[in-house]
Amino acid sequence: MIAIQTSLQPTWTPERIELLKSYFESGLSCRDIAVSIGVSRNAVIGKLSRLNLTRTTPGERRARRRKSAGLTAPRATAKQQLRMLQAVYEPEADDAPIVSSNSCSLFELNEQRCRWPISTPGADDFCFCGNTPLGGMPYCSGHYRLAYQSGPRQRVAR
Ligand SMILES: [Zn+2]
Repeated sequence: MIAIQTSLQPTWTPERIELLKSYFESGLSCRDIAVSIGVSRNAVIGKLSRLNLTRTTPGERRARRRKSAGLTAPRATAKQQLRMLQAVYEPEADDAPIVSSNSCSLFELNEQRCRWPISTPGADDFCFCGNTPLGGMPYCSGHYRLAYQSGPRQRVAR
């Protein structure tokens, strides 16, 4: 069964044609290509002529490469580069200090206030963040992020 399939396979499968083209581009001789692909040298020569692939002199090849290099996209302008940098550094804003300007006591705490504890429980200056929390969350965006980031570490400490 397998032997029959192999014998029915055409000499030039799409994969072999791709190989032929890449070997030809890299400058292999017809004999080397034939050995690499596993077909006869005559098959390689015949296929190359059918594909209109002809050898170019090194000089011609260099000229072609220069031409294609000139066609590459222009370099990003300074403005574009700045925008790219800003895009890269934007996540850094997440590390900005969290300002709890609405800090409140335990008794003032409600669902509209971030319940992130500030300072140590029991200390004189102990209070809660009190910022507007994220929808459905007990913490403001900054403290939610902090809680999320330090979660695994707190579990380890416990
Ligand atoms: Zn908060």
